[in-house]
Amino acid sequence: MKKNPPLLTIAIDGNSSCGKSTFAKRIARMLKYSYVDTGAMYRAVTLYFINAGLFRDTEEPEPELVESLLNHIMIELRFNEDTEQTETFLNGKNVEKEIRSMAVSNRVSYISAIPAVRRKMVELQRKMGENKGVVMDGRDIGTVVFPDAEVKIYLTASPEVRAMRRYRELQEKGIEAGLEAVRDNLMTRDHIDSTREESPLRQADDAILLDNSDMTVHEQMEWFGQIYERTLKKIQDED
Ligand code: C5P
Repeated sequence: MKKNPPLLTIAIDGNSSCGKSTFAKRIARMLKYSYVDTGAMYRAVTLYFINAGLFRDTEEPEPELVESLLNHIMIELRFNEDTEQTETFLNGKNVEKEIRSMAVSNRVSYISAIPAVRRKMVELQRKMGENKGVVMDGRDIGTVVFPDAEVKIYLTASPEVRAMRRYRELQEKGIEAGLEAVRDNLMTRDHIDSTREESPLRQADDAILLDNSDMTVHEQMEWFGQIYERTLKKIQDED
């Protein structure tokens, strides 16, 4: 009888709006793995702080205040069987649409640069992936959350392609935003995410780089299929 292939951890990192979540979701569906959108988790934390009034007088709230409020936050990612999409819940409430707003996008990189926030999210993410069979996307998955992941992909695309993708995605979701504002937000987040002190965005030494600017999702999946087979063969050879 044919043995089931071993379950892997698949880490996908890269800068904002380069198609990580579309790619990660497709891989998860193909392999029947779970999908964890870690950006959604940082966005939910940010939404909590916006609603708590932390940004009322300042664009960069005190890290100490943020830390003291972290214990009030419970984040879950639940799979909706009807839509076949993962949805983000903040303290029991579905916030999937709210966390994609520009109000959140404009502030999330400040909040996610705070070490205490990262510690809490990384702990949660490690728990979510402890049984393997997971595709996780973010900024520090291959470098910090799962440095031993069997597959690490670092995705990139040109700024123009990324801005247009995010703009269309927001339009489809009925979220108001101009193309210029979307592009500015992506550039600002890239800068903050890659220059912060705590686990900055960077390509892990053993990650495979993929520029998908001119690739369809189908082409990306074909590319992934080869990587996946190669990884399984390597594991088999090592056994
Ligand atoms: O992936 P997404 O663009 O939704 O992520 C929103 C923001 O969350 C990023 O710009 C980054 O500041 C933060 N983030 C992070 N680490 C992750 C995932 C997201 O710092 N693993």
